[in-house]
Parts: sequence; C-alpha cells; structure tokens
Amino acid sequence: MLKSKLEQYQKKRKFNKTKEPKGKVGKIKKNDLIYVIQRHQASHLHWDLRLEWEGVLMSWAIPKEPKNDATKRLAIRTEDHPLDYAEFEGEIPASEYGAGQVKIWDQGTWLPESIKKAKIVFEIKGKKLKGRFVLIKFKEQRDNWLFFKLGK
Ligand code: MN
Repeated sequence: MLKSKLEQYQKKRKFNKTKEPKGKVGKIKKNDLIYVIQRHQASHLHWDLRLEWEGVLMSWAIPKEPKNDATKRLAIRTEDHPLDYAEFEGEIPASEYGAGQVKIWDQGTWLPESIKKAKIVFEIKGKKLKGRFVLIKFKEQRDNWLFFKLGK
C-alpha cells in the first residue's frame, strides 16, 4: 500500500536537482477541477494529460499530440502528480527522471460526467480541447487507456 498518493511521484525525483514541485496532497474539491496538458520533450516527446481528482492530478502520458476530435490516442496512466504541478514549466535536468523541457500545451477546468474504474467520461473546458471526452482502459493491459472526443 502507498502511504501517500504522491509516494510514487516523490520517490522518482530528487528535489535538490529538479525544480519540479515536491507538492502535497491537496483538499478535495467538487468544482473548478484543474485540467492541464503539458508538452514534455523527454527522451520521447509526449503530452501529459492531468486531471485534478481527490487532491492530486491523475496523469496519463499521450505519445501523439491530442486532437480536439474523435481521433483515438493511446494514453498511458502514470503516477499521480501534486496539484502544483499544473503550473510547472521548465527544464528537467539531464540524467534526472523525465529529463527535458516541459511546457503547458493546454489548460482550463474539467467536469466529471461519470467516473468508473476503467472508464471516465468528462467535459474539458480548455483552449485547445473543448467538449466531451472519454478515457477507456484496455482490459488486458494495466496502464493503457484510450483517449478521444465523443461525438463529431
Ligand atoms: Mn511526462
């Protein structure tokens, strides 16, 4: 069992080397939930989708640029991040975990419509992404999900 929702996040990083926030678990909010996607030029370029939930940012790494349409994107669930991370931009030093540049690609809020273990339907209110989206977990593979917009 994890002691904190952020244990995995904190274990992976050396906070005397990286400027990423150490963070703590925040208060549970019901509205104005944070939505952010960070473009992360690590060894492999990807887009990190983060959704505030129960005091942390649930996170998925998306290997191809997300689209504001029904294009399906693979989204790999990664460790929960602290809420402060939503504002983080900068360079993670070489040889540190996730080395490379992080830039906010889109941000705003999100509204959960239904949250189940393997399926999240929600509204994104961002600048680039807007509307109803879904995250669906593959049955056979633990951390692999699909992310796409519902409707047109
Ligand atoms: Mn990343």
